[in-house]
Amino acid sequence: MDRRVQRREFLHMSAAGGVVLGAAMGAGVQAQPAPADGAPAARPTLREAERSLPVSGTYDVVVVGGGIAGVAAAVAAARNGASACLLEREQGLGGLATLGNVVVYLPLCDGHGNQVIAGMGEELLKLSVRDGFNPLPACWLPNGDAEQRRTARYQVTFNPASYVLDLEEWVLQSRVKLLYDTRFCDVLRAGDRIHAVVVENKSGRSAIVAGCVIDASGDADVCARAGERTVSLRTNVAAGWFYTHDRKQVRLVCNSEEFPRDPRVTPTGIRVFAGDDAEDVTAQILATRVLIRERLAKLRAEAKGGPVFPAVLPTVAGFRMTRRLEGRVVLREEDNRHWFEDAVGMTGDWRSAGPVYFLPLGCLTGTVNDNLITAGRCISADGPAWDVTRVIPTCAVTGEAAGTAAALACRTRAGSFSRLDVAVLQEHLRRQGVLIDRRFAG
Ligand SMILES: Cc1cc2nc3c(=O)[nH]c(=O)nc-3n(C[C@H](O)[C@H](O)[C@H](O)COP(=O)(O)OP(=O)(O)OC[C@H]3O[C@@H](n4cnc5c(N)ncnc54)[C@H](O)[C@@H]3O)c2cc1C
Repeated sequence: MDRRVQRREFLHMSAAGGVVLGAAMGAGVQAQPAPADGAPAARPTLREAERSLPVSGTYDVVVVGGGIAGVAAAVAAARNGASACLLEREQGLGGLATLGNVVVYLPLCDGHGNQVIAGMGEELLKLSVRDGFNPLPACWLPNGDAEQRRTARYQVTFNPASYVLDLEEWVLQSRVKLLYDTRFCDVLRAGDRIHAVVVENKSGRSAIVAGCVIDASGDADVCARAGERTVSLRTNVAAGWFYTHDRKQVRLVCNSEEFPRDPRVTPTGIRVFAGDDAEDVTAQILATRVLIRERLAKLRAEAKGGPVFPAVLPTVAGFRMTRRLEGRVVLREEDNRHWFEDAVGMTGDWRSAGPVYFLPLGCLTGTVNDNLITAGRCISADGPAWDVTRVIPTCAVTGEAAGTAAALACRTRAGSFSRLDVAVLQEHLRRQGVLIDRRFAG
């Protein structure tokens, strides 16, 4: 009999019979009470042996996740004088934007001709097309046509492979310590702070001591582990953008089930998934592969026997909104044009012309850990406001804000975000080119 089956059956029998494995092995199966009639049986648990972790590094700022938010955060921290370490479980930077082939760098403007995102949000947009894959929109060049800006939004489409190469160079030039193939697993806390993050990689399990931690995991992994309040959605659909080629041309296929504009609404008639549940993550990936096969079959039928091959598949799961922080402030749809005294950036609405949101520091910070801040698609924004803030340009804005705040907190306030001088932070951000313009409040 298969060894794994034997082991599983043994655990099952052990749990049912309340057996505890030998303490000499450093692990024990906890006895489970018999489930009440109809109630789901509790899973057996194992106790991990206590062990000392080697400290594999000490940094002012540790950033978890190398998507657009994470790279912006790490570079902003380093440019502001902090020693910064960027942890990424994959083997390339950019997250969904590059490894997920989500290649539309959505607008930096409000749709009425006004630019509302600059700073790193704009720097990263320019970097995305530095290889000349697409030009910048002519009307958004210096002295461009103001009238055209009212209709042509400031956005580009980029080539994901070029962007992987260029993001990596950009990060390394800033002297950020980059660790690929490294998964954040847990935190070690002391008082109201995270003392170290626990990671696993080819060297094993180790601790990295941090002055401040930035959760740019997209899924609020650090927040969840560190005891912050979080909100999860099981409303994601099968989605995965991919490229095809026909021996002559490469084409992008934006492949996704329909998803609702309010992410809290569960789509009807299709399977939905949570991004913070192990079984669901695999189920979403498999459902996406089915969707890709179906789309390929359709494209082949349309080509009437002509060649159509898959060229590049997404290598990260196409989850839009999974788990987010419930922070000191929750940004909501009705906050359109609402001024926040602690605003650290702004964004337009990629879905329609007109709305402008100020992004307060309070929606990046939690309530439990004084040296933890979030960036990207897991900040504290609810419903349609989450849908507005999760996109690439806004992730760059919150990344730059989080990285700058973390560097300043380490330099002046012993890594405390609650004691950070917001006026000083805003001054730094404005000097970096970030737009925080109260005239957009209404
Ligand atoms: C199908 C689809 C289409 C989209 N279309 C667009 C579009 O056209 N334009 C647009 O602007 N946006 C679009 N988006 C949204 C946008 O791409 C993402 O929301 C945005 O890129 C998120 O950036 P991020 O850095 O916050 O997170 P992510 O890109 O998710 O990056 C998080 C990073 O953290 C890493 N990570 C996660 N957990 C761990 C861990 N435990 N340890 C170490 N590393 C970890 C991941 O590997 C990843 O690299 C789309 C999203 C989807 C799913």
